[in-house]
Amino acid sequence: MTNAQRPIDAIEPAEPGSRPAVLRALRSPGPVDLLAAEKAAATLLTSLGVDVDTEGMRGTPGRMARAYAEMFGPQPFDLTTFPNDEGYDELVLARSIPVQSVCEHHLLPFVGIAHVGYLPGERIVGLSKLARVVDMFARRPQVQERLTQQIANWLRDNLSPRGVGVVIQAEHLCMTIRGVRAADAATITSALHGHLRSDAAARAEFFALAVNGLTPTRS
Ligand code: ZN
Repeated sequence: MTNAQRPIDAIEPAEPGSRPAVLRALRSPGPVDLLAAEKAAATLLTSLGVDVDTEGMRGTPGRMARAYAEMFGPQPFDLTTFPNDEGYDELVLARSIPVQSVCEHHLLPFVGIAHVGYLPGERIVGLSKLARVVDMFARRPQVQERLTQQIANWLRDNLSPRGVGVVIQAEHLCMTIRGVRAADAATITSALHGHLRSDAAARAEFFALAVNGLTPTRS
């Protein structure tokens, strides 16, 4: 089974009732053959008329192979959650989480930021884990729309919050350095679940805080 054929959500589901709730976020990685990748990279470059037999480029096919392996290799992590003992029921929002991924159409990077928020149910999650979830789904050939949905779906399924919201703003190099060369063009996508989707006021508050952050208020 190649990576392209592998189900993209091949991740263990949450273990119900586990205390403390540690949910393994694992993805079965496809086999990585760095040597074959290096040879293929050399063939690709040579086929494109690039001379790899220079002092500066001799190691390039190997570096290329390792760089892509890193970009396609998500790190497993534990989604540690804690009981929401105080009954906190307002929005929890992590803004401007860096997003670095590679578009699956051109294998060129797209980079930007993600705002990830949720309305807690019975449990809350360590804040750094929200960035881990973004990273986990970003490290594979992606499209921004799917990345946004996968983050939201995963949090919905594993944290069981009352609502989830994800906004991603990114620049796609396949659009800015080639093709239409639309410099500085940004692509914005969003995915909402639960109360953040169904309740207009909650939805508006999420977008206001996610996109603008807190603005100073006059007393
Ligand atoms: Zn692309």
